[in-house]
Amino acid sequence: SEQTFITLNDGHKIPQVGLGVWQTPNDTAVTAVKAALEAGYRHIDTAAIYGNEEGVGEGMRASGVLRDDIFLTTKIWNDAQGYDSTLKAAEQSLKRLGTDYVDLLLIHWPSPHRGLYSETWKALIQLRKEGKARSIGVSNFGEQHLDRIIADTGVTPALNQIELHPDFAQHELRKVHGRLDISTQSWSPLGQGQLLDNAAIGKIAGKHGRTPAQIIIRWHIQNGLIVIPKSVTPSRIAENFKVFDFQLDEADLEAMSKLDNPDGRIGPNPMTATF
Ligand code: NAD
Repeated sequence: SEQTFITLNDGHKIPQVGLGVWQTPNDTAVTAVKAALEAGYRHIDTAAIYGNEEGVGEGMRASGVLRDDIFLTTKIWNDAQGYDSTLKAAEQSLKRLGTDYVDLLLIHWPSPHRGLYSETWKALIQLRKEGKARSIGVSNFGEQHLDRIIADTGVTPALNQIELHPDFAQHELRKVHGRLDISTQSWSPLGQGQLLDNAAIGKIAGKHGRTPAQIIIRWHIQNGLIVIPKSVTPSRIAENFKVFDFQLDEADLEAMSKLDNPDGRIGPNPMTATF
């Protein structure tokens, strides 16, 4: 019942389950991050735009877990895109987090109307060279955005963090990731909680004596995805990490594959978003 890891295309290992902290204010982030690290998590997903990097850093230090044992991700917000402004934004994130490196730095959205994601990617490559980010990747990128940054720089992102849950399984984009050797990270893995009272998932949960959240997280793990469920409640944070001591069987996975729905998207469509 040990946690599992995915090896990224740059050789670094990322814990397959991490804590997401979107919509978590600083003071709550301190307690949530500390609770997660005490429950065994070693992976935290924040972003500059979440406004809680100080709280995340404080929670990490309060836990007593060594910095080097934690996989920490943050993201460059859209208004900081561009080469120089990205270098500056990364410095500011590191300062707020109270650390001199992140394990993973992501471009939060391609924001194609700005026309700056390729310049932004060049800054991430520089930050990796300087050791300020150990791995670099993207979020919400489509195939054309991935192809473009790889063509422009020769550097392939380690992963693409995208909206993905059993009822929005993203098979097309996952195929693209397979072709390019990019790992897939699932955001809103629980469908922002909407999937927790799904009848099919409830049935599987009953069969295994597990909670719906644990069944969904297990589905991500067995699909080779990296998953960052969010909770601020210590008991749920712990529950969401107790997923390494059981397995879904073929019938469970087959039943869950039927939930996939092209209209399952909850968040903005990155192809048309104008923020
Ligand atoms: P999620 O799918 O993780 O769902 C979180 C909600 O599910 C919680 O607020 C809670 O209401 C409920 N929940 C969680 N565990 C539970 C449990 N054990 N029992 C009952 N209810 C439970 O939603 P999310 O926060 O949107 O996504 C997770 C993380 O993904 C975010 O915190 C963030 O780090 C990341 N994210 C990234 C992007 C991006 O653009 N890159 C966008 C959205 C989210």
